Amino acid sequence: MIDPWQEAQTHLKQVVKTAGLKTGLFNLIGQHDRIITAKLVIKTDDGRLRSFTAYRSQHNNALGPYKGGIRFHPQVTESEVKALSLWMTLKTSLVGIPYGGGKGGVVVDPKQLSTRELERLSREYVRRFFFAIGPDVDIPAPDVNTNAQIMAWMVDEYAKLAGSSRPAAFTGKPVSLGGSLGRQQATGRGGVVILKEMAKAYNLKPKTTALAVQGFGNVGYWFALLASKAGYKVVAVSDSQATLYNSEGLDIEKVKQAKQAKGSVAFGPGQKLPTEAVLTVKADVLVPAALENAINKTNVDSLTARYIIEMANGPITNQAEKILLDKQVVIIPDILANAGGVTVSYFEWVQNRTGYYWEVEEVFAKLDKIMVKAFSQVHNLASSQKLNHRQAAYVVSLNRIARAEQARFYS
Ligand code: NAD
Repeated sequence: MIDPWQEAQTHLKQVVKTAGLKTGLFNLIGQHDRIITAKLVIKTDDGRLRSFTAYRSQHNNALGPYKGGIRFHPQVTESEVKALSLWMTLKTSLVGIPYGGGKGGVVVDPKQLSTRELERLSREYVRRFFFAIGPDVDIPAPDVNTNAQIMAWMVDEYAKLAGSSRPAAFTGKPVSLGGSLGRQQATGRGGVVILKEMAKAYNLKPKTTALAVQGFGNVGYWFALLASKAGYKVVAVSDSQATLYNSEGLDIEKVKQAKQAKGSVAFGPGQKLPTEAVLTVKADVLVPAALENAINKTNVDSLTARYIIEMANGPITNQAEKILLDKQVVIIPDILANAGGVTVSYFEWVQNRTGYYWEVEEVFAKLDKIMVKAFSQVHNLASSQKLNHRQAAYVVSLNRIARAEQARFYS
């Protein structure tokens, strides 16, 4: 059983050592500031009481308030939430936005709840964590199995408890409640900007570059759609039930319609394969966009892609990464590849605080600029210092945090 927090810490320690960073930095960043656990109790539709374990991990706030999504999933653990909050700290620092890192989670299978039960659970989360979150303290957002509707319930509950409207307490809200235009597609769009930059750096031509995308939720769908619109051949997509494959490229809109109508990508136009097949079909670029540890020692040897863009958080285990790097596979790390979501969350927060709302073109122009800059910083450092992309991304990020910590603690 892989322990995500152990994995994240081991990785961090290795980078600090390899890159010759001060070990004191590991002691600061290697621990989270605090984790809060709560038991959420709700009444079910048939009048029973049910309880759910919930977490909020606040990892580091040297650069600004804690920031990170809330995940609803039966496999949420304290260790996972802590690891995800560490990656948020690294991610926000890497793209230069004024936040630290946080993450929340509830151990629940939301598919087993009615919409009303889901609403009660979302509101209860806010009641139990109200004392620890807020626009200047810790700002949650959607993550796996949470969405704009859940953020709407949460921000509404927050406003009731605060006694005033506080749209900046949550991001990823519906546009009607102060959400930013472009937030929904932001993570996928940011990832495609990274894909294009990577293609330039490695001389890949869209038409002859085949992509396989694991996961067809918010991130996977938008990535696949925007990549195919940019001329790339998306030959495979998958969800928890199946992989859909077409060597000539899939029609992503049609796959989406099929998933919406029948519940799985399996019903889209293409060849239906087992779920795991997405990792091993012939593709140049593999894009894991589902959950952690998807690429691990059991499947790593069957991968064919020469490039991996990590759109999910932590999709490759340390052990698998070592094997891939030995084979010269280029891995664009999660903290860079999927930073588009938190970047537009930041724009949403800025818009909420100023009360002045931007056109979608402005959102995308600012997003693209940040992603291009972050890629070039990481890629240039990787090339000049002979680091892999994850090490380079960590170094850029850790140096920013170190400067802030130093300014706070040393004269
Ligand atoms: P989501 O709930 O919208 O979608 C998850 C998708 O993964 C679903 O299609 C599900 O069927 C699929 N999936 C689950 N298990 C699978 C498996 N074994 N094989 C194939 N597919 C599987 O979640 P999301 O928001 O798209 O998040 C996906 C990943 O991206 C997570 O790691 C999340 O932390 C990360 N992420 C999300 C955002 C965001 O803005 N939503 C931002 C940054 C990172």
